[in-house]
Amino acid sequence: MPDYAIGIDLGGTKILAGLVNRTNGEVLLSVKHKTRSENGCEYVIGKLKQSISEVIEESRLDISQISCIGIGAPGQVNRTKGILISAPNLDCDNVNLKAILEREFFIPTFLGNDVEIAAIGEYKFGAGRGYNNMVCVFVGTGIGSGLIKDGRVYYGNSGTAGEIGHIIVDSGGRPCGCGGNGCLEAYASRSAIEKRITGALKKGRTSIITEFMKDSKQISSKMIRKAMEHNDELIMQVLLEASDYLSNGLATIINFYNPEAIIMGGGLIDAIDEFYQRSIKKAKLKALPTPAETTVFKKAQLGDFSGVIGACFLEEQNKFLKPSSMPVSR
Ligand SMILES: [Zn+2]
Repeated sequence: MPDYAIGIDLGGTKILAGLVNRTNGEVLLSVKHKTRSENGCEYVIGKLKQSISEVIEESRLDISQISCIGIGAPGQVNRTKGILISAPNLDCDNVNLKAILEREFFIPTFLGNDVEIAAIGEYKFGAGRGYNNMVCVFVGTGIGSGLIKDGRVYYGNSGTAGEIGHIIVDSGGRPCGCGGNGCLEAYASRSAIEKRITGALKKGRTSIITEFMKDSKQISSKMIRKAMEHNDELIMQVLLEASDYLSNGLATIINFYNPEAIIMGGGLIDAIDEFYQRSIKKAKLKALPTPAETTVFKKAQLGDFSGVIGACFLEEQNKFLKPSSMPVSR
């Protein structure tokens, strides 16, 4: 008998919702909408409801056949109460999503954060299958990680474990979005690399990437890859530097956590294999020999659907929560 659930990755730019068969992790159907958070939180909640309604409608299932709804949001959440405490990217503060959605759909609803649902997805049905002690690292706009300990998400005392993007790799270094200085995220994320490139261009350095950027304000991972394929000097230099910093973060995870596996995903990792390979190679050299030898590195396998699949299992993670293990930020 299939066990159906609806998983939602509620992101700053898009909402991805899917109907998942929890027995085998299959995504049976999915819908995608732009979040358009500039229209305000009410609008975002409306889009969220619309996405769920569409999934239910398309599935032709009765709501009694859907076990639960799971949502991962980019921000601080109170997991036991299902409250979105703060999500700057969504313009939402203190919204009880659980209450709002349960009133609307009469399906038990659970809330987590975006990194944790992606880690659960990869652990259950992706590259992390079989590794009960592992870390999922996602390198994109920021750098986040989700920790699995003995087969469950490890939240830490107050729910903030896994903030690998904010370990300090350069004391007193570049300013970070968290208010601190020298954080890994300020050196090895896509946005950090982008800043580095635009800074150099402003200073008069030349790069082929300007041809790929055209009118785009953002430098995407794909543009960086294309420039790298042309052996562009500036891009190669910036990527080399970033992978060196990323390897510091990965070596720290290896030494501190001694995981069975580190699963890596996110735009930069997906788009630029050389960046991934170089980072893990250097991390293994920098870490202590024993944990370095036994840590397996793998790329995430579920792509955009890791969060959708993982969100469907927030219900089972929720059973293990202590009332105090709140809130979580990214
Ligand atoms: Zn920081």
